[in-house]
Amino acid sequence: PLPILMSLMGENGMAKNITPRAQDFSQWYLDVIRVAGLADYAPVRGCMVVRPTGYSIWEVIQKHFDEGFKETGHVNAYFPLLIPHSFLEKEAQHVEGFAPECAVVTHAGGEELEEPLVVRPTSETVIGHMYSKWVQSWRDLPLLINQWCSVMRWEKRPRLFLRTSEFLWQEGHTAHATRDEAMEETLTMLEVYRRIMVEELALPVVAGEKSEGERFPGADNTFTCEAMMSDKKALQAGTSHFLGQNFAKAFEIAFQDQDGQVQFAWTTSWGVSTRLIGALIMTHADDDGLVLPPHVAPVKVALLPISTDEERLASDLEPKARELVTALEARLGRRSVALDTQYHMRPGDRFFSHLQKGVPLRLELGEREWQEGRVRAVRRDTGEKIDLPWDRLAEEVPAILEQIQQNLYQRALEFRLAHTHDVSSFDQFRSTLEEKGGFLRGYFAGTREDEKAIKEATGATVRCFPLEDQSTGTCFYTGKPGARRALFAKAY
Ligand code: AMP
Repeated sequence: PLPILMSLMGENGMAKNITPRAQDFSQWYLDVIRVAGLADYAPVRGCMVVRPTGYSIWEVIQKHFDEGFKETGHVNAYFPLLIPHSFLEKEAQHVEGFAPECAVVTHAGGEELEEPLVVRPTSETVIGHMYSKWVQSWRDLPLLINQWCSVMRWEKRPRLFLRTSEFLWQEGHTAHATRDEAMEETLTMLEVYRRIMVEELALPVVAGEKSEGERFPGADNTFTCEAMMSDKKALQAGTSHFLGQNFAKAFEIAFQDQDGQVQFAWTTSWGVSTRLIGALIMTHADDDGLVLPPHVAPVKVALLPISTDEERLASDLEPKARELVTALEARLGRRSVALDTQYHMRPGDRFFSHLQKGVPLRLELGEREWQEGRVRAVRRDTGEKIDLPWDRLAEEVPAILEQIQQNLYQRALEFRLAHTHDVSSFDQFRSTLEEKGGFLRGYFAGTREDEKAIKEATGATVRCFPLEDQSTGTCFYTGKPGARRALFAKAY
């Protein structure tokens, strides 16, 4: 069975251990995570260990978002992990939505607690409680606070990064004096998410409004960034909620306005999580492993001196390589260029270790390159090889990395567009979903019950009403006129 054997071998006969994506998407996804060393299963089902390579990607993602939050006037703080159970019950929808997923602490210090404590599934309640103390007058508003932490939701169908029982995230919580201001905040943060996902993570997401059936428990309105994975399924990449006065009333976040009248505040919340690492994998990775957009790659370039002559390595190749690393890092940032000194390994295996980890650009400095005063650059996204003279390196490498960044985005955008299909009747909806999959675009004015019926019949859900498309037409499901444009898909 030679062909099978071949397909399991890498460039130089090294076992790849990655199931081809076309053969089994779910296994491919897990294999990419394993060979890149991103995460591992924890002893508790549904929980995950984020390994150093995975965590370093999370740190870069955090940096981009944290910058976006601070640029828009937010500050970071920290609220406690444990929340009194009674807090959750104060907002009826919220408790109904989250209670089934909550982990509850009943004992501590060897005794049963008077009141059970919930491990936060999200922090609207405890933050609402604190905001009610901090807000008295219109002068105290707006409150614009974010926290980076982990939360716990007891997930029944866990999957590494995409849906784990404990996950790392940020949650922004804001309080405002007026409805308009809170709505503006909700949409501003949606746009911060969209921009960073597009520009830094190279994820061509669609920003839109959630349907009633997909709203956050306790929100008046939920907005989302929806991405298409390379198996054509949708992934909710981040959400921004307009909470109206629901939490303000439940937690008495009230203030005296400029006329001396007491009013309830208007609040928002918004979050992105380690799910984004799953989105990066399912969007950009290939059968050789991870592919990282340069803007989120902790290591952007790997530089490999290659020779069988140890003396040459020590006297010429490695010192030159160190010099080039220094020059490159001056342009790309400290620690963004890795010098590969794995001389005990065959060159092919060294190449492969960087391929699997998704390093955007590999630079080879072998004997021939040395003679000619250049390096050979190999792009992770296309495999293209480019000869670069040493004196052009600091100029050319940042430009090539930008091309890789743009190429990954364009590739994913074209994939999404190619797999988005218009539908104008439910029959067409069903047949298109079955034959082609992907995103289905149609006018929709159905109720929550209609959404449920469609999901039961087809497995697809309303992903969002895209903000960029405000056209209206006849609903493909109910035949009602004046329906908004919606995107449907099977989703993670
Ligand atoms: P939510 O507070 O429910 O709107 O969640 C905010 C964001 O966290 C979602 O848009 C997801 O991207 C992400 N998320 C929700 N549940 C999980 C989970 N179990 N594991 C990882 N990420 C999650």
